Amino acid sequence: MQKVLVSFRFFDEWIKFLKDNGLDVKAWDSPVPPSKTWIKENIRDADGLLCSLVNRIDREVIDEAEKLKVISTFSVGYDHIDVNYAKSKKIRIGYTPEVLTDATADLIFGLMLAAARRIVEGDKLIRSGKWNQPWTPDFMLGTEVSGKVLGIVGMGRIGKALIKRAKGFGMKVIYNSRTKKDVDIEFVDLDYLLKESDFVVLAVDLNPTTYHMVNRDFLEKMKRSAFLINASRGKVIDERSLTEALKSGTIRGAALDVFEEEPTSPDNPLIELENVVLTPHIGSATHETRQKMAEVSVKNLLAGIKGEQMIYEL
Ligand code: NAP
Repeated sequence: MQKVLVSFRFFDEWIKFLKDNGLDVKAWDSPVPPSKTWIKENIRDADGLLCSLVNRIDREVIDEAEKLKVISTFSVGYDHIDVNYAKSKKIRIGYTPEVLTDATADLIFGLMLAAARRIVEGDKLIRSGKWNQPWTPDFMLGTEVSGKVLGIVGMGRIGKALIKRAKGFGMKVIYNSRTKKDVDIEFVDLDYLLKESDFVVLAVDLNPTTYHMVNRDFLEKMKRSAFLINASRGKVIDERSLTEALKSGTIRGAALDVFEEEPTSPDNPLIELENVVLTPHIGSATHETRQKMAEVSVKNLLAGIKGEQMIYEL
């Protein structure tokens, strides 16, 4: 019997699906991720690994695996896996692009609207019992989204899904990416994008060129009236610089779904600020999308074990 290791808390019905497909499944069953030691001990005789972004699958882990044919990650991002090293060991890697693109682009728009229109602040005001003044023309004014300039940094799948949504809002969209893409919006250099955009959205993957891409210099090039939205990976932003920029008025606001450390600490100074909207890494978290991700990641795993074609392979 072939053995698979599932190194994060996964859906029961999909674990059953793996068992029904004749696999011996060892699955972690706690929301707190397993230690590296647990993964190293259990990966030794595994033919396949189903992991997520809470697991760090580095050289040390891969070196323990004696029979591993496939690593299937329940994510589109793969910065938690030493991809080159795995490939050098002839281990195939499956991931879940496309199926989470729309859900993530929807959340990014939600964050953008929430930050610009002060939706969370308004909700908090009512719940705190402090909404004690009648309607006035100057009460809780925010920033208009319709008709503004959206600058997308990283024109991949999510970037493209953002263009469609932005057009519905009558926004002018410009973008920067490492390479020019076949899209009907203007490609600009990063400095120009930062200077012109009312909303800057990060839609890059985490790689050595995007680690702490958002630093003091980046933020100082943005408009003072602009908002920064990030649902890519937390480490793309140097949070210390962002906190300073939000405090000092270098930019007007931000909305973040991802953090340098997750879960972020209750002591993170960003939490104290009014002009930032925070969500706990829920970009792809809809019932529909998580089921599609489960199906793709499980089928990638099975295909990798059987030596067949995966749905999405790196
Ligand atoms: P993708 O199709 O690979 O797009 C990433 C884009 O980033 C690529 O087009 C790449 O450009 C660009 N890029 C990389 N480095 C860059 C740099 N230094 N400057 C400018 N552009 C750069 O990936 P995707 O499917 O759109 O997803 C993007 C990321 O979002 C994922 O990697 C994941 O980390 C994150 N994500 C988060 C959530 C969430 O729950 N919050 C959900 C889904 C995805 P080139 O093609 O020109 O190289």
